[in-house]
Amino acid sequence: MTVRLRVGARTDVGRVREGNEDAYMTRHPLFAVADGMGGHQGGEVASKLALETLEKAADGAPELAEVVRAANRAVFATAAKDPGLAGMGTTLTAILVKDDRLHLAHVGDSRMYLLRDGNLGRVTKDHTVVERLVDEGRLTAEDAERHPQRSILTRALGVEEDVQVDEADVDVRPGDRVLLCSDGLTGMVDEDDILRILGQHADPQAASDALVAAANQAGGQDNITAVVLDVLEEEKAAAETAPQAAVTETVERPSPLSEPARPVETPPVADRQERFAARPVASGRRWGR
Ligand code: CA
Repeated sequence: MTVRLRVGARTDVGRVREGNEDAYMTRHPLFAVADGMGGHQGGEVASKLALETLEKAADGAPELAEVVRAANRAVFATAAKDPGLAGMGTTLTAILVKDDRLHLAHVGDSRMYLLRDGNLGRVTKDHTVVERLVDEGRLTAEDAERHPQRSILTRALGVEEDVQVDEADVDVRPGDRVLLCSDGLTGMVDEDDILRILGQHADPQAASDALVAAANQAGGQDNITAVVLDVLEEEKAAAETAPQAAVTETVERPSPLSEPARPVETPPVADRQERFAARPVASGRRWGR
């Protein structure tokens, strides 16, 4: 059988940033969250371009990880061509639904969670310096969530010509709830509260809205995206999946302050790797090794 889903999704600029560099896609059987970075303009371009490439390439139905690598090449090539976009990149956490299984492909620190029988489990691993320290036993998971350097990525799309993609297959069953989100949610709302909020809202759109509201209430220091997928019983599914066809939709709250666009740094290509490791970008995000 093919899994039937009911979908809710919301993205929000948050309370601090001027633009929303997050993007999401809910186009059955593909669902994804991307969190762009590399200055205001570059970040928005990178996340949207990654999702557009994902959507286009998926029509040919190749392997999902290969599609993600194609998205990487598209972001990398565009960044190399346009000096105004040099240094941009994006996370990408994508799910392809096939039969009763979710194929996951993942790069960066957006996350996939699975809520089953009241337990919330994180499926993805963050590609961050901080998570590596946790793996090595040098930092507790709790300290990692609030670590000032938690946003330094070790992997992202668009940084190099090729990228290593994490893959997983997740079997799902009716009653399961999947959350895809950017770090603007998980950086502001801890997992206990995410679990509590998911439990309070049976409707996936209401759950997405409530998660975003909670992140804003906690300060909204980053762009926030939440996509909630409910795995339905076969028979009641058909009528409820129809209205979700939005592609790479980015809903932004108008910013009360409009500042002139910031100049984007344009490092020469040869210099690129060093600068990723050391250069803070406008989104507060850095590359690390
Ligand atoms: Ca972010």
